Amino acid sequence: MKTALVHSEAWRGFDYGPEHPLRMERLGLTWRLMEAYGLTTLPGAIVQAPDAAPESAIAAYHRPEYIEMLKACNDGTSSRAAAMFGLGPGDNPVFRGVWDCARLVAGGSLLAADLIGRGEVDRAFHFAGGLHHAVDQRASGFCYVNDAVLAIMRLRERGLRVAYVDIDAHHGDGVQQAFYRDPNVLTISTHERGERLFPGTGFVREVGEGAGVGFSVNLPLEAYTDSSVFLPAFEEIVPPLLDAFKPDVVVAQLGVDAHRTDPLTHLALDIQGFAKAVARIAELSPQLLALGGGGYDIQNVARGWTAAWAVMNGVELPDALPASYVAEARAAGCRATTLSDAPVEVAEEIQVAVKNYVERQVNEVREQIFRLHSI
Ligand SMILES: [Zn+2]
Repeated sequence: MKTALVHSEAWRGFDYGPEHPLRMERLGLTWRLMEAYGLTTLPGAIVQAPDAAPESAIAAYHRPEYIEMLKACNDGTSSRAAAMFGLGPGDNPVFRGVWDCARLVAGGSLLAADLIGRGEVDRAFHFAGGLHHAVDQRASGFCYVNDAVLAIMRLRERGLRVAYVDIDAHHGDGVQQAFYRDPNVLTISTHERGERLFPGTGFVREVGEGAGVGFSVNLPLEAYTDSSVFLPAFEEIVPPLLDAFKPDVVVAQLGVDAHRTDPLTHLALDIQGFAKAVARIAELSPQLLALGGGGYDIQNVARGWTAAWAVMNGVELPDALPASYVAEARAAGCRATTLSDAPVEVAEEIQVAVKNYVERQVNEVREQIFRLHSI
């Protein structure tokens, strides 16, 4: 098993702004936890820094007028015209280097796709990627370019069959939209239900269009869904679909914002449940291109993606976080001292309601999608 970790120190140079929930510190903190656990010097694993993607690579999916606008915004100055492309105060701020930042995200995911496509590694992890909301002509949900779409397109150019599995708390709407009519890319997204959370989509009835019917799969989750409800639901949906679709490569978006302490969402996973889902995705993937995604409680981001990278390399980690990391993380406001989370009590009526909702959604997916794949 050969693996690759794609990481750049250049992220430190970018900043969405002091009020924005997406903190670039989370990437450095993740790297430092991986380092403290000895996961950046594993035998059989390479670590590579990406180059910024050339404009032509981004133009494979994004519209020229949107690219021109991102370039115009790179000096940090916004304009009224930028708002037409979703850029400006709010979710997708214009900051100095916004185009450079977008090119670096794309470059990292394309590097990971090339390492897998050329057969150099079996699994690659680009944890700064997974910006799944951007669409061809618009920024959305903190995402400027859709690196997941670009990576999938790069793999498709090599004739590889790709399944996309997205466990971020938000619906992977941008990726779904890009391949909505395409039967050669299966997209599966699990997320908090659209009535409750941005982007407001991801209902079971969104099954694809035309030749793509049956190749967009959505499993909405109720608020307070925890690992004990999520993992069995995941198991009922994802393995049978991957088994029927038979991808060459799975592209996984591993947003860690479904965690119970995430400030932007209402799901209730713990780190160990998240890691189990990653382990199942890895087992089910002939080759795996893993991306990061959301995650706004930075101690969960560092722990979740470190656990994910350990899983991808078959490494078992001691539960106590390394002392050198704990000291540094405390200075950044993090209190966790263990990789896993302590159990929490949940009121029985909440547990029952959540379970019932998720079971209904699972049945709905089986009814609407499985028959199309003769499952
Ligand atoms: Zn998210």
